[in-house]
Order: sequence, then C-alpha cells, then structure tokens
Amino acid sequence: MKRFDVVIVGARCAGSPLAVMLRRRGLSVCLVDRAHFPSETPSTHVIQPCGVRLLGELGLLDVVLASGAVPLDRITMVIDDAVRIEAKLDEAEHLQSSLCIRRVTLDALLVDAAAAEGADVRTGLRVTGLVREDGRVTAVDTAAGPIHGQLVVGADGRHSTVASLVGAREYHVAPAGKMFAWAYFEGVHDREGCARIGRQGAQVFLAGPTDGDLYMAATGIDMAGQGEFHTDRDANFTAGIRAWPELADVIADGRRAGPIRVLTNWHGYFREAAGPGWVLVGDAGHFKDPTPGQGIGDAFRQADRLALAIEDGLGNTSPDAAMRRWWQWRDDDAYEMYWFASDMGAPGTASPLATRLMRDLAVDPKATQMFFGVLDHQIRPSQLFTGPRAARAAVRALLDRPDLLIATLKEIVSTGRQNARRARQRNTVPQS
Ligand SMILES: Cc1cc2nc3c(=O)[nH]c(=O)nc-3n(C[C@H](O)[C@H](O)[C@H](O)COP(=O)(O)OP(=O)(O)OC[C@H]3O[C@@H](n4cnc5c(N)ncnc54)[C@H](O)[C@@H]3O)c2cc1C
Repeated sequence: MKRFDVVIVGARCAGSPLAVMLRRRGLSVCLVDRAHFPSETPSTHVIQPCGVRLLGELGLLDVVLASGAVPLDRITMVIDDAVRIEAKLDEAEHLQSSLCIRRVTLDALLVDAAAAEGADVRTGLRVTGLVREDGRVTAVDTAAGPIHGQLVVGADGRHSTVASLVGAREYHVAPAGKMFAWAYFEGVHDREGCARIGRQGAQVFLAGPTDGDLYMAATGIDMAGQGEFHTDRDANFTAGIRAWPELADVIADGRRAGPIRVLTNWHGYFREAAGPGWVLVGDAGHFKDPTPGQGIGDAFRQADRLALAIEDGLGNTSPDAAMRRWWQWRDDDAYEMYWFASDMGAPGTASPLATRLMRDLAVDPKATQMFFGVLDHQIRPSQLFTGPRAARAAVRALLDRPDLLIATLKEIVSTGRQNARRARQRNTVPQS
C-alpha cells in the first residue's frame, strides 16, 4: 500500500500551489480533485499583488502572463459622487500591479504546475469519505479506493467535504451582504490594465480586462433584491451595470460573451482548521465577502505558510501541534481583513461616516497608498483606520450632512460598539 506524505483534496488556488511547495520540500504528494481541468468555478479574478508575488516565487508568473493574464497597474475607485481615487500602481511607491485572469485559465495552469513538480495528480476523482485509525485521519476514500497519507489537507473550497467529514465547526459567522453577478464582454477597447472598483447607491462593482481578450464586469446587489434579479437576469444585469454610467460606457462597444454568472448562496466564516491527521486551507477553512477580491491571494499566502508548517510538523513528532500553530496564524492573519471585507460588502448604501472616511483617504496621497497597502496585506486595516482618523471622519460626517445628524450619531455609536465587540472576540475559537 502506497502512503503519501500528504494527500490534498482540491486542486485550485490553495491545493495546487501547496502541492508545488511541498514537492519542492521533497515530500510525496497526491493531489485529488473531482473536476477535470480546465474547469470554471464561481469567482471573479483580481489577484492582489501579494498573490502575484507568490506566483513569481513559484516560477509561474511568466506562464500566467503568457496565457493572456492582464496586469492591472491602474485603479479607478469611485463611491457615488463623493469619492474618486485614480491611482497608478507604482513600484517606487511600493504598489505593485494586480492581475486579472479567468479561473478557467489560472486553475489549469496551477494543476499543470503541480503535476510538473511531481505531484501525483488525480483529477475527475471525488473524495467521498475519510479513513481513521485510532482517531487519526489516515486516508481519503474515493471510488478508485482509499488514498493514504500522513496528513490529509482539505483544500476543497466552501462546501468542503473534508471539513464536513471531520465536523469542523464554524465561528465568527457573517451573513451574505450582497449577491454577485458577472459576465464577460468581447470587443471592449479598454485594455489598458485599469481595475474599476465602484459603489453606486447600494450596488458595488468590480471590472477590468482579462485573458482571452475579454473584459469582465461584475456587480453586487443587496441579497434582499435577489428574487427580483432572477426574474430577468439579462435585463437586470444590464440595468445594474448602467447604474454606474462610467462602466456602462467602457463596455458599450463590446458584446456579451456567454451567460451571466451569479453567486447567491454564501456566507462568511472561519472553520476549525486542524485536528488529528487533517488540516484545512483556503476557502475550506475560511471564506470572506468577495468584494475586496482577497480570496485567491489569501489561498496562495495560506498555502505558503502551511507548506512551512507541514515540513516542520512531519519532520518532528508532533505534526498536530504544528497544524494548530498554523491555524492560529491563519486566524490572526485573516481576522481584520474578514471584517473589513464584510463592511465593504454590507447591504445598503454607503453611510455618511463610511463615505467621509473614504473621502478623507482620497485627498491624502499617503492614506490612499496605505489603503492599497491594506488590500495587499502590507498593513492591517486597524493601522489605517485608527481611532483619531475615525474621530476626525465622524466630526466631518456630522458637518457634511446635518440633515442626517441623528442617524450619523447612531452610526458612530454602533460602529464603536461593533469594533469593540470584534476586538473582544478576536481570539475566540470553538472549544473542543
Ligand atoms: C463571486 C466570487 C467572486 C470572487 N472574486 C474574487 C476576486 O476577484 N479575487 C480573489 O482573490 N478572490 C475572489 N473570490 C474568492 C476566491 O474565488 C476563493 O477564495 C478561491 O477560489 C479559494 O480557492 P480554494 O482553492 O480554496 O477553493 P476552490 O477554488 O473552491 O477549489 C476547491 C476545489 O476542491 C474541489 N473539491 C471539492 N470537493 C471535492 C471532493 N469531495 N473531492 C475532490 N475534489 C473536491 C473542487 O472541485 C474545487 O476544484 C471570489 C469568490 C466568489 C464566490
């Protein structure tokens, strides 16, 4: 019976890079995915610069760029008529480009890289169960028989089979604020590498050129509006894009290619991430509001740290302790961004306080740079949204909209309470 060092379930942004990293550390790896690649998955495709850097470290950046991925070195960010940021991502300012590449293209390249590195890649194979010996997970069950490993990694996404089979509990759960809809357009002339991030009323937007000479336009609408949206997806998507006339103008010269994709069924969570013989990485262990486009880069970054922890853990007598330390790192790394994302994608329109905070950032080049540093994990949200900055914004928000005095005061109080509650709950995980 062959026994791998590591069996990884799920071969996309978390699983395949992890397989590459483990192979480079000399470990034997079996990488299993029920999908056949190339394969689509519900996701838009802005990879933050931190993720691009990791693609570079993996030696995959050239092949990703050669596949048509578009470097996004400019950002236009708009909130109603109140905020407009136009930034050139300049390495001299420590701001690197992000990338836009469809998952159908990216994920196949990642799987190929894992195979080229010597992982035993088994696609089209579903994991249906786990084998346990003396309480430890020692193998995964598949229709082709069990696959044994010293460690089983669940990199199998939001509906993780591994997480459900080990009974990993969720915590810090946050409901979905918006549903997302996106589509591709061909023939759009704007191919200059500008990411467009917008908010108009209660709608959010993310758009940019991508591989295949396509342009991706995505919008998020309040979950409460999903029933109506589905009554006529085509018309409602088109009307939704028109709510941001600037974006509608960009794609006006294009034709839609393919259907409108939607994601309605999601929520944010952390899951217990490690136990005897198993560990979870990527969306299998943690999912946040997609509005700030963090999940791909996070999956790469988590894989990077997990590879170190696995090398360390399998090399000594206590792999489970190493996995628990990794879990603690994951929670610490993800906590602030989780709530930042949740606030960005919250239902409803931008409040006077949130708008004022962003207006203040937009007119302060250093703060604007810090904002992009937050998206790139160079600094934490709390290092940008400090108490004094929030207090100044609160006073200005009251002066901006005296007609909304009571509502804004209530928002200031509830935001303060919410931040205090989040700070208190930071280190709480389920007790086993
Ligand atoms: C609408 C939307 C938009 C998004 N936009 C962005 C964005 O712009 N930028 C960004 O960085 N992130 C974005 N994200 C987040 C990003 O898509 C995820 O964080 C990322 O896909 C996580 O990768 P993963 O490898 O952990 O999981 P997944 O990509 O979900 O991969 C899991 C894999 O596991 C396999 N699998 C599952 N169960 C089994 C089983 N039982 N047996 C075998 N295989 C199995 C699946 O086939 C799949 O291939 C978005 C997400 C959504 C939903």
